[in-house]
Amino acid sequence: TEELDLKKYIREIPDFPKPGILFRDITPLLAEPKAFQEVTDRLTAYYREKQITAVLAAEARGFIFAAPLALALGARFIPIRKPGKLPFETKAFHYELEYGSDSLEMHTDSIHSDDRVLIVDDLLATGGTIAACIELAKHSQAEVVSCAFLIELAFLNGREKMNGCDVYSLIHYD
Ligand code: 5GP
Repeated sequence: TEELDLKKYIREIPDFPKPGILFRDITPLLAEPKAFQEVTDRLTAYYREKQITAVLAAEARGFIFAAPLALALGARFIPIRKPGKLPFETKAFHYELEYGSDSLEMHTDSIHSDDRVLIVDDLLATGGTIAACIELAKHSQAEVVSCAFLIELAFLNGREKMNGCDVYSLIHYD
């Protein structure tokens, strides 16, 4: 079977959420079941033999791709959330953004030192979000096997923030 051109399902929105930003809107892809299915299938094919035990994703768009992938791989799904959302004991990671700072939280009992972790997000831009997720995973001494994205904005060099961690993405903008 032939591969779909997934880029066709990404809509470009100028000046969102701020002037000067060209936003990559994934909702047309989510609205086309054969495209959404193909994303899960291609990621599953890449990770099937990699013994992934836990799939981590940060809210909200990361969840969309991480959940079906975790099920397909037979791995645990672990949500990473904005502060104050997770009900059990959490650990937090604070990180700097272009303007200001942000933080993400994970349940302390969610991953273990023997886990083989895959981190998933919809889009890799500067890498700040994913670097925070990597730090949270490493706090539990787990091995971060790889990071997967639907879209990679290659011109922002987010890969360089990932300390040599394997990166796999399906759509690239150079
Ligand atoms: P980074 O932390 O790598 O700079 O930014 C990536 C994060 O911002 C991802 O969690 C992603 O959801 C969000 N993001 C930034 N720009 C875009 C965009 O153009 N489209 C989408 N869908 N998400 C974006």
